Amino acid sequence: MHTLSIAEMAEGLRAKKFSSVELTDAFLARIAKFDKQLNAYVTVTADQARAEAKKADQRRTKGEDGPLLGIPIAQKDIFCTRGVKTSCGSKMLDNFIAPYDATTVAKFNQAGAVMLGKTNMDEFAMGSSNETSFYGPVRNPWNTKTVPGGSSGGSAAVVAARLAPAATGTDTGGSIRQPAALVGITGLKPTYGRVSRYGMIAFASSLDQGGPMAPSAEDAAILLRAMAGFDPLDSTSMDKAVPDYAAQLSASIKGLKIGLPKEYFGEGLDGAVAKVIGEAIEQLKKLGATVHEISLPNTGLAVPTYYVIAPAECSSNLSRFDGVRFGYRCKDPKDLHDLYKRSRGEGFGAEVKRRIMIGTYALSAGYYDAYYLKAQQLRRLIKNDFDEAFKKVDVIAGPTSPSVAFNLGEKTADPVTMYLSDIYTIAVNLAGVPALSMPAGFANKLPVGLQLIGNFFDEGRLLNVAHQYQLATDWHRRIPAEFA
Ligand code: GLN
Repeated sequence: MHTLSIAEMAEGLRAKKFSSVELTDAFLARIAKFDKQLNAYVTVTADQARAEAKKADQRRTKGEDGPLLGIPIAQKDIFCTRGVKTSCGSKMLDNFIAPYDATTVAKFNQAGAVMLGKTNMDEFAMGSSNETSFYGPVRNPWNTKTVPGGSSGGSAAVVAARLAPAATGTDTGGSIRQPAALVGITGLKPTYGRVSRYGMIAFASSLDQGGPMAPSAEDAAILLRAMAGFDPLDSTSMDKAVPDYAAQLSASIKGLKIGLPKEYFGEGLDGAVAKVIGEAIEQLKKLGATVHEISLPNTGLAVPTYYVIAPAECSSNLSRFDGVRFGYRCKDPKDLHDLYKRSRGEGFGAEVKRRIMIGTYALSAGYYDAYYLKAQQLRRLIKNDFDEAFKKVDVIAGPTSPSVAFNLGEKTADPVTMYLSDIYTIAVNLAGVPALSMPAGFANKLPVGLQLIGNFFDEGRLLNVAHQYQLATDWHRRIPAEFA
């Protein structure tokens, strides 16, 4: 059952080939058998999942139908889930039981999806390898000595190993796309404002977006439809109709203009990855697309700009974790200052502290103009690059990540090397446009992801291009042998 697509699962439920309880049990059994090797779930909500599956089966018996009714999914542990631990990968929230559901979670509940559990992640979504998690690293199912990428590494690993049919992720600088690339699945970061951020624990509010992670674009389209839409509880969510993404998948891509940014194919890109990307682009040409060289001249500024803006926003967002209202509190504080200092000192990990310090510095009087304001100006230039590019082409294509999955521990000693994992993904968040990563082949026996970047609210087109590619290829169907 675990190799079926979401549409096929829904078909099976409709035809009464199996029930949601049976489907859910099949995935729970796979989690029990395989997750020890991966460490991809922080919490498995088995009893709740069976109860939700039973409810979904009852809804179906009463005549209800829907693309997600009775379909199991996993939630990244950054989304608040009422009554269930929501840790955000941090000791700070190890004892936090969310009192309410994030809008994304509520929408999946309404659609009748079944939550299997909460997935491991980099602490507060800060990382590119899942090694900053309080719960230990997640392992890549294709080679358990390597990382699954981050920060949504748990979600990526559970989908790649089919310990869930699909999962949610969040992407602030690449955290859906880079792990999707490293484990060989399809992941989409929507346009900023497309998916509500309510109840999604904030890292950098002007960059964070939730999105789907699934084997195929077809599955991702079903998830995105459920997640997207205006939410009065998120003032940055857009009041704009949600298209039927699934209905857009079958259009031909003949005549599609694809831009290849010269900055994405230069120094720093692994040769074996470049070769796979070249082949994927040839395949898109065979499907009728035309290819044009373009330039995104400010690409080189994206990582430094991001590492001022994201830490600045995180230093402000994370000030709420003070040991008073929720989360970790140190033992026997001497006074209020001691309470703040030790609760935060003991509750946060090294990477989170590094970001809070950078952000606090960048925002402090005297440095604000030199760093934060400057970064905001560069951000506008980066956005302008995309505006110019989309005057000439329909989508932009290139690698998602400069290399395939690296070994655990390989980049932990040097934060800057780790930060460079996101050189092709970060500019997209700074601009606010949507982008997806899809499996395009293998290099050194590890998956390679092709990134497709679209204009604002052009998610439907990205999914369409990916689906057409996936009709002609089978990379998205590959499952690591150990987890078959
Ligand atoms: N890897 C980037 C970072 O560490 C992006 C993380 C993300 O998208 N949440 O900040």
